[in-house]
Amino acid sequence: MRSVLLITVDALRRDHLSCFGYPRETSPTICSLASSGTSFREAYSNAPFTLASFPSIMAGIYPLEAPYYDIAKKSTLAEILSSAGYETIGFNTNYLLSKIVDYSKGFQHFYDLTTWAPDRRVRKEPTLAGKLLKRVGLNVIVSALLRKPLSPPYVTGDVVLKELQSIGKVKEPFFLWVHLMDVHGPYFAYGDPRARKFSRRWKGKLREARALDVAGRLNRGEEVSPSDLRLLREFLRDVYDDRILFTDAVIRGILSGVRRLSNDVLVVITSDHGEGLHEKPGLVGHMAYLYEPLISIPLIFSVRFRKGSELASSIDIVPTVLSLLKIQRPEGLRGIDLTKGSRDTVIAETSFNQDRREVIRLNESREMNFILSARVGRWKYIRTITSRKVSEELYDLVMDPQEMRDLHQDQEKVLDRMRSIIDGHIREIGLNPVREMARFRLRKMRGEKIGRQS
Ligand SMILES: [Zn+2]
Repeated sequence: MRSVLLITVDALRRDHLSCFGYPRETSPTICSLASSGTSFREAYSNAPFTLASFPSIMAGIYPLEAPYYDIAKKSTLAEILSSAGYETIGFNTNYLLSKIVDYSKGFQHFYDLTTWAPDRRVRKEPTLAGKLLKRVGLNVIVSALLRKPLSPPYVTGDVVLKELQSIGKVKEPFFLWVHLMDVHGPYFAYGDPRARKFSRRWKGKLREARALDVAGRLNRGEEVSPSDLRLLREFLRDVYDDRILFTDAVIRGILSGVRRLSNDVLVVITSDHGEGLHEKPGLVGHMAYLYEPLISIPLIFSVRFRKGSELASSIDIVPTVLSLLKIQRPEGLRGIDLTKGSRDTVIAETSFNQDRREVIRLNESREMNFILSARVGRWKYIRTITSRKVSEELYDLVMDPQEMRDLHQDQEKVLDRMRSIIDGHIREIGLNPVREMARFRLRKMRGEKIGRQS
C-alpha cells in the first residue's frame, strides 16, 4: 500500500510560486512536483487563518461546522489512516496545531516543535535577553538589527529536517505530516545567509529598519506616504520570497529523506491560507478577510490524475487522498474526490472577533461575527455578518483580479445567484449566525472558557 506525505506550509500564497506564473524562481522543488503530478490553478483554502482552515484540511469539514474551530469530536485524516493500519507521524511547528488543540489525534508519534505558545505544556522559554527586550517593547527592532530573532517565534524548517532524519526506520505504509512555519511572519531579513537571494539588497541595516518602521507606523494606524508604503511592500515581497526559497530547499530535503523510507509515496503539498502584503489598505498578514491574497493557496498532488486547471478547495484533500489510497470514505466528509469530480464553486468562511481575529478566548473576544465567500466562475461574492449589519461585496475576478471595484449594486442577477449559493451552504452546514452570536454572548456573560486553549 502507498504511503503518504502531507506537507503544509503556513501562509504560503499560490501566486508567489514560479509554476503559477510568478516571475521569480522561488520554488523549483515544489514546481517540479507540480509539473509531474497534479496541481490546481485555482485552489483555495476554506478560511483565512490556521485555526479556521485546518479543520477542512485535516477533518474534511467546513470551518463554520465548528464555529470555535474545535476538531475534538471530528475524525481526522490521521485517525482514519491509523485505523486503516498506517503508521502515523506528525511534525508540527505551530502551537495552533499542537496537542492542546487536538491535532495530535490519530498520530502514533507526534512531535510538537513549537517554540512559542500561550500554553506552558508546549512552550519553550525564550532567552533572557528576548524576555527583557520584549518587556520594553524593543525585541522586534533589536532582532532585526541583529538579524536573528531573540525569542524565536517558531522552529525553522532545517530543525524539522534534522528531527525527521533522526526518526530512523518507519513501518510502511506510513502517513507523515510536516507543518512548516518559515514563510510565516514576522518578516525580517534574518535566517540562513545561503538562503538569501531576493532580500540581499536590504543588507544595509538602516534600510531594513526603515521598512520595519513603516510597518510599525501602519500598525499604530498612522498615515504613511505612498513612497514609504512602496518601500515596505518591496521589502516584504523580497523577504517573503526568500522564505519560500528556503522552505523549498527544506522540502527538497524532506522528499529525499522520505523517498529513502519508501519508494511509493503520495506527496501532497498545500498551505492553510495566504498572506496579505499590503495589496489593499489594511490587508496585511492574515485576518478575517476573504480577498484573494489570503485564500489563494497551492494544492499539489505528486501523482497525475488530471490536468488541473480547475477550482479546488482544502476540504477536498481528505476525500482525494482516501480515494487515491483506495480507502473507503467515512461519512461526514464534505469535500469532493478530485480524481473523479470537479468543482464549480468554492466556499471560504470563518467566525471572527472585533479585531478580525479568531474567536477563541473569551477574555479577548468581545463579539462574534461571520464572513463567508463563494467563488463561481469569474465571480466572487463576500458576505460579512455582524450583530449590527450584514454587508455584501461582489467582484469580477477576470476584469478586476485585485478586487478593487465592488459590483454588488450593479449586478443584480449575479448577486441573486451568489446569495442563494451562500444561503444554501449555510443551510447545508446547519449554521444559524444569529443563534451562534446569542450563544456567544451568553457564554461570555457566564464567563465560560471557550476552545481548548488555556
Ligand atoms: Zn497559518
